[in-house]
Parts: sequence; C-alpha cells; structure tokens
Amino acid sequence: MSQIEDLFKKVTSHAKEYGFIFQSSEIYDGLSAVYDYGQNGVELKNNIREYWWKSMVQLHENIVGIDAAIFMHPQVWKASGHVDGFSDPMIDNKDSKKRYRADQLLEEQIEKYEKKGKTDKAKALSDAMNAALNDNNLVAMHDLIVEHEIVCPISGTRNWTDVRQFNLMFSTQMGSVAEDSDAVYLRPETAQGIFVNFLNVQKTGRMKIPFGIAQTGKAFRNEIIARQFIMRMREFEQMEMQFFVRPGTEMEWFEHWKQTRLNWHLALGTANTKYRFHDHEKLAHYANAATDIEFEFPFGFREVEGIHSRTDFDLRNHQEFSGKKLQYFDPETNSNYIPYVVETSIGLDRMFLLLMCSAYKEEEVGEGDRKETRVVLALPPQLAPVKVAIFPLTKKDGLPEKAREIMDVLKLSFRCHYEEKDAIGKRYRRHDAIGTPFCITVDHESLENNTVTLRYRDSMQQERVAIADLEKIIGEQTSLRSIFAR
Ligand code: ATP
Repeated sequence: MSQIEDLFKKVTSHAKEYGFIFQSSEIYDGLSAVYDYGQNGVELKNNIREYWWKSMVQLHENIVGIDAAIFMHPQVWKASGHVDGFSDPMIDNKDSKKRYRADQLLEEQIEKYEKKGKTDKAKALSDAMNAALNDNNLVAMHDLIVEHEIVCPISGTRNWTDVRQFNLMFSTQMGSVAEDSDAVYLRPETAQGIFVNFLNVQKTGRMKIPFGIAQTGKAFRNEIIARQFIMRMREFEQMEMQFFVRPGTEMEWFEHWKQTRLNWHLALGTANTKYRFHDHEKLAHYANAATDIEFEFPFGFREVEGIHSRTDFDLRNHQEFSGKKLQYFDPETNSNYIPYVVETSIGLDRMFLLLMCSAYKEEEVGEGDRKETRVVLALPPQLAPVKVAIFPLTKKDGLPEKAREIMDVLKLSFRCHYEEKDAIGKRYRRHDAIGTPFCITVDHESLENNTVTLRYRDSMQQERVAIADLEKIIGEQTSLRSIFAR
C-alpha cells in the first residue's frame, strides 16, 4: 500500500474509532454512501458550519440567511433544468455488473497518461472527452473507453454496455395515496430554495443589490459511484450563498468571491500549496464562468467548493415557469431587471474530510524506552470538537471536586470534557487523538494557590497558570474572533 493510501485508510478508521463518523445503519451492514456523525463528528461539523455562517452572514451587512424546506414544488426542478439535465453518463461492466461514470473512467485514464509522461495522449483524450461531453455524445464517450482500452477495475475486462444518462435526483410521493399524488424530489442542491425566495427576502428585508442570501442544509444525489468515504455521499450537506448583482458586473463579483472564499480556507492555517483553482473549460448551460477550489486530498486534488457565475438563468426560468415576475427595481439606474447571480457552494462533509486529512498526524515522541508514536489531530483550535479537557491528577484529596468547580465555570463558554480515569499521559493521548487543544491538570498545588497545569496539544508544552486566567487564554485561541480579527 502506498503511503498516501495508507494515510487515507488511517484517517477513515480514526474517524470511526474516535466517534467522528459511523457508517449509516451499520448493524444492518450499512447503507452505501450514507454516513452518521458521532459525538465528536457532530461538534466538528457544527463548528465548521458556524465558521461558514458567521463569515458569510454575520460579517457581511448585505448577506442574510434563510432555511428553506427540503421538499419543493415539482415544477421547481423542471424550471431549474434538473428533471431534464441533472444526470451523469454511466456505463456498466457486464462481467462485474459494476456501474461507473463514463467521464470518470476517462479522467482516470488521462491521469494515468499524465503520470507516465504521455502528455500528448493525455491532452488528446481530454480534448476528445470534453467535446463528447459538450455535445452530449454518449456514443463518442463509449468509443473513447473502448479505444483507450479501459478495463473494469473489478473484473479486469472490457465487456462494456452502452453509455446512458442516469438522473441523480431521488423522488418520493407526497400525500397518503400514491396514485393521487405528485412525485416530489429530495432537493439535489440547496440553491433553488434561495432562488424561489429571492423576492420574499428582497422585499421583506428591503435588500438593495448587490446582496446575498445564504443557506446551509441537506442535499441528496443518487450518485452512481460513491467512494472515498464522505467525499461523495448520497445524502450530504451544502453551504451555499447566492449573490444577486446588476447584470454586467458579475465578472467582478465572480473574481471577488473566488478570492474571498479561498481566503476563508487559508485563514484556517492550511498551507496555500494544498489549494488550487480549477477553472472550468466546459461550462454548465447556465454559467458564464465557473471555478472549483480544489484541495490536495491523500488521493489527489479534488473539488471542495464551486464558485459559479450563473447569469440570470435560474430567476428567469422560475419567472417563466411560475408566471410570477422575479425582477428588481434598481433605484440607481431607475430600471427593472432580473439580477445576475454569483454563487459559492461548498460541501460541508467534504470540508470535514479535508480538515481530518490535513489534521491527522503521527509523531514520534519521548526518548529511549519511553519512545512512542502519538496520533494527534491538529485541527484548528477554533473548530476542535472539544476545546478543553479537565483532569484531576488523582481521584482523591478533593482534586475531583476542584476540577469540577473549574469545569462548571468553563463549560459556560467552551465544550469541555472531564476525565479522571487512567494515568495523565493516557488521558493526554486520548485528547490528542480527537484534537482537543488544551488539557488542564488539577493537582495538590491547585488547592493551595489556585493554579493548574495547562498543556498545549501541538507543542505538548505545559505551563502553570492561574485558574482565573484560563477562560481568557482558552478563549483567545479558540474563538472564531481569533480568525476574523486576523
Ligand atoms: P462533483 O463534480 O464532485 O460531483 P459537483 O460539481 O457536482 O461535484 P456542485 O453541484 O458544484 O458539485 O456542489 C457544490 C459542492 O457540494 C461540491 O463542491 C462538493 O463540496 C459538494 N458535493 C457535491 N456532491 C456531493 C456529494 N455527492 N457528496 C458530498 N459532497 C458533495
């Protein structure tokens, strides 16, 4: 196994072992590409969401949030183009009965050529694939798979079916009698809930263009192949913001949001070199510019966030399908128009995976006989599930009581853990493994002079500090303010 695959395997098993992520319905052998967040995972996920929400909504006077329902009128998905166009080209291998995305098989082949230095071949295949995708030419995609002798990774054969389109939306029935009711869809993106509420928010909030509407929430896609853990799930969460602008100004705003969103990632302290933009050559039918923010996961650079200039496509279509005017009167130009939209769309689960992958570290610590490997999750302290762990040195002499006293104050501000089992060293390791930035040890001296030992996760340094100063020290390094004020 390569070191890289090894790292990813370690991250996934660590996520389970320490209560971050469990396979859904595990006791029934799981449900493919659906995951549950455990006791530490839910805290980390909430903290990422809060970081996003506060940076987008709290720090921008002209952005407000909403929380739209998952179910929407079925016409929404006709107007948005999802009923007709939200599909992936798929191909089955007749021997293994496994289904693949045709474009991904080709992408992987291009990567293989690149790795072997066959850049001409890679470029030719990439051009041919883009042309086939652009023309929606499924026969051409099939022919490319055959021509480049791509084999099924499971069966090893080239016994392929034709390439077909596969709609990714889940549908269900609304109402008690299936025959009488309309099919409704589980939303495949949160954005449409924002578009259909555009005028509600604009009018009731007296919003002036340019302004944004932000939302976080579940989205559902029946992904053909779901792998790489929570990278590609069938139920996931998005954090999206639609920014409504005057037509003709969208490119400036596109550039603005591209940079602003990259800065949001970098503010967490991850190295710049782990990120890159991937500008789209093949644009979706509604977009006039699009880029992905990609992160270098252990299995390569992959999209975490998309920034799309969506023109007036969505609002115009909703206006047409609903028969309701979705226009804005601009007092500055004294004219009515359908605004253009620049969207930022990030997957919360993918961001979670990104943080786990960049935080997971194995370090050699100690000397001689006491040498050991410590596993530490070097998460940004502001996002760590538990901010501070509080340990009485022993279970007697009034130390637990003193520790609880400290905990009772600190828990009003921070997520805290109290632990008295095992040696202190073991307790430190358990908290290193879930990324707790601070551990406090209460000892006999604490009873005498109201000081404790404060131990820092990353440096493992310890210092004696006054109990009265704990809240300030911990707060300074774990509050979102410490990121925003940079
Ligand atoms: P991909 O090309 O990886 O399928 P996409 O371009 O379809 O993604 P968008 O529709 O732009 O993705 O969605 C915005 C963000 O939502 C993505 O950048 C990603 O972080 C997240 N996302 C999309 N699909 C999934 C999924 N199946 N599982 C987890 N996150 C997802």
